[in-house]
Amino acid sequence: MLIFRSNNTEVPYNLNDVKTTMSKLCVVSGGSRGIGRAVSRLLAERGYRVAVVSRNLEAAQATVVSLDGADHIAFSCDVSRGEEVQKTFEAIKKACGNISYLVNAAGINRDGLLLRTRPEDMLTVLQTNLIGSMLTCKAALRSMLYTQGGAIVNIGSVVGSKGNAGQSVYSASKAGLEGFTRSLAKEVALRNIRVNLLAPGFIRTDMTAEVTEAEAVRAVPLGRFGEPEDVAQAALFLLESPYVTGQVLVVDGGLQLSL
Ligand code: NDP
Repeated sequence: MLIFRSNNTEVPYNLNDVKTTMSKLCVVSGGSRGIGRAVSRLLAERGYRVAVVSRNLEAAQATVVSLDGADHIAFSCDVSRGEEVQKTFEAIKKACGNISYLVNAAGINRDGLLLRTRPEDMLTVLQTNLIGSMLTCKAALRSMLYTQGGAIVNIGSVVGSKGNAGQSVYSASKAGLEGFTRSLAKEVALRNIRVNLLAPGFIRTDMTAEVTEAEAVRAVPLGRFGEPEDVAQAALFLLESPYVTGQVLVVDGGLQLSL
């Protein structure tokens, strides 16, 4: 596993000598691009320390370099791999201290009709979007239980509840994430840990590169594509709202109203 700190130094796995500060630490999975990058930027602007996680270390480093302030950190980790997630979260804790916040934005799609979807693609989507979020939640919870508090935001999708032809596997992963979020919220509420889910509609990122502006304008009552920053604002709201847990917040410009 490789990591990178915002002062441009690469450091090995053993991080005992790294100093930590007391500001809020948020791990953002999928923080290298799209929605996760926008979340990382907003949190850094608001005084959080951010640990950016993605498979591609260079892309995660680029996000860290672009963040306001110091003490942000980048990790390469494939969230679908249990052992890698555990080691990464241990390394984050060693480098930065206890983890109070987690935003799970790592996700992939392999869209297509079910009849044309290969079993290995089904597994990859479920393993990344659903199991990956479970693994990171589990790893972060160890730290949150220790400090007796925290907040998690999982990124689902409007198709998790509404469904969409050509996205059966992807929407199953997001529907699963909704059920997981509600159940986990109940499990950890008395430990002062909140767990919520954001359900975005069309957001302009690499994942929606094939959706045209005209399609989005036609489908969305607010008449525009969502920007990653629109989702980031909602993530911040959920992280910072002390009496909100087990909820699904839809961020879709009204798209769901017409589905
Ligand atoms: P992008 O494709 O722009 O970014 C995906 C991010 O996830 C990247 O940082 C990528 O980095 C990371 N990632 C993917 N697989 C893994 C993995 N196995 N381990 C670690 N990191 C991984 O997608 P978006 O920003 O659009 O999507 C973010 C989340 O929002 C996803 O969960 C997506 O399903 C959801 N969403 C997006 C919508 C949209 O319209 N864009 C709508 C509804 C939901 P790397 O490749 O380096 O690992």
